[in-house]
Amino acid sequence: MSLECLDCGGKIDIPKDAITGEIITCPDCGASFELVKDEKGFSLKLAQVEGEDWGE
Ligand SMILES: [Zn+2]
Repeated sequence: MSLECLDCGGKIDIPKDAITGEIITCPDCGASFELVKDEKGFSLKLAQVEGEDWGE
């Protein structure tokens, strides 16, 4: 199974045993996405990027 990268449109392979909430990284552009499951199957959601400066 594979999904289209939201960023570059490249193909991202999704493992058969992937679970909701798993972080998937695009092999082409390196963008990180969170795997979410709905009634139609898996889709990708932009992952929260850690390490941003939140002005703590
Ligand atoms: Zn990509």
